[in-house]
Amino acid sequence: MSQEENPVEALARRIIAAQGPISLAALMRLANTGMPDSYYQANQPFGPSGDFVTAPEISQMFGELLALAVADHWQQTGSQLPASVVELGPGRGLLMADALRIWRQAAPDFYRCISITMVEASAALARAQAERLGAEATRIAWQADLPEADGPLFLIANEFFDALPIQQFLRTEEGWRERLVNWDEARGFHDALGPVVAAIREPEGDVWEQSTEALVWAERIGARLAAHGGLALVIDYANRPGATSLRGIRRHQMSAPLEALGATDLSAGVDFAALAGAAEAAGAKAHGPIGQGMFLQALGIEARHAQLSARANAAQKRELDSALHQLTDASAMGDSFQVLALMGPNDPFPAIFQNR
Ligand code: SAH
Repeated sequence: MSQEENPVEALARRIIAAQGPISLAALMRLANTGMPDSYYQANQPFGPSGDFVTAPEISQMFGELLALAVADHWQQTGSQLPASVVELGPGRGLLMADALRIWRQAAPDFYRCISITMVEASAALARAQAERLGAEATRIAWQADLPEADGPLFLIANEFFDALPIQQFLRTEEGWRERLVNWDEARGFHDALGPVVAAIREPEGDVWEQSTEALVWAERIGARLAAHGGLALVIDYANRPGATSLRGIRRHQMSAPLEALGATDLSAGVDFAALAGAAEAAGAKAHGPIGQGMFLQALGIEARHAQLSARANAAQKRELDSALHQLTDASAMGDSFQVLALMGPNDPFPAIFQNR
């Protein structure tokens, strides 16, 4: 046994020893959030010194523009109260801080009247979010689920769905078999195959990925939007149907997913069609997904960039230029990240998605 085994690996190994190979979904849950030593509980994932950089970490413009889209939708749909704002997986809390500042300035009625919920599995990150939000934190509820309320829902989820556990099924000569994770002394954690399963639908390619947890969220968000209206914006990188999208990221590099469980960010591309389908089945409308670059451009990122640049010094200007490029350019996050909008069935078509 290697001496560097950490508590996540030790627990996964004991579970496998006791009951045999486990599903990739069970392993991802354990590695990402399932125990105090899991990735999001025990690490500092964000920023240049961490493992990866997300859009709100790149620039305030990202959260500001999403906040404006949300407040605009609220006004377009009759400024109904009470209204709930929910963020799924808020990371270090930057997006919510940027959004609250914009709502306070540009949509004061919305800012005053909303009730805010953050859904965060990591106790350490929930603490970091509360710290970041300072006095605003006193009006925020941290809970595991959507709030129960009778008004419209305004929800933002940036790089949340990609962290949810997936199951993978692989095409073999005998039929579809689930990819499982096994452990032995010689190989450490390694892939194994479960028994042949009947495919519910015949997927293309050789890999079929599904996230039950993602579909549960999409259904529940859809049901709330169907009943009370509102807007949910889901931003993430998409899966590639037929191919594996499971990836490990450590210190800004791709790393073998099973190599350092608990110290590696495990994520998978999001099946936007499946999310949209689940939300629609619950009665909501879905639009997109469209590329993040196109989406931010339609929301006016160029104008916001110009406005901020006008009062920036040379170094800040360079940062703003680089942020604009990273968020919108096709060679960076502009195409690989996609935005799906879910909304109430009677809500107006959002202008941002017109002709897309
Ligand atoms: N939205 C942030 C953080 C993205 S990282 C940003 O853009 O910077 C993923 C976030 O989702 C982290 O905050 C992580 O702790 C949280 N998370 C991951 N799995 C979760 C789960 N099952 N339930 C709740 N939060 C989860």
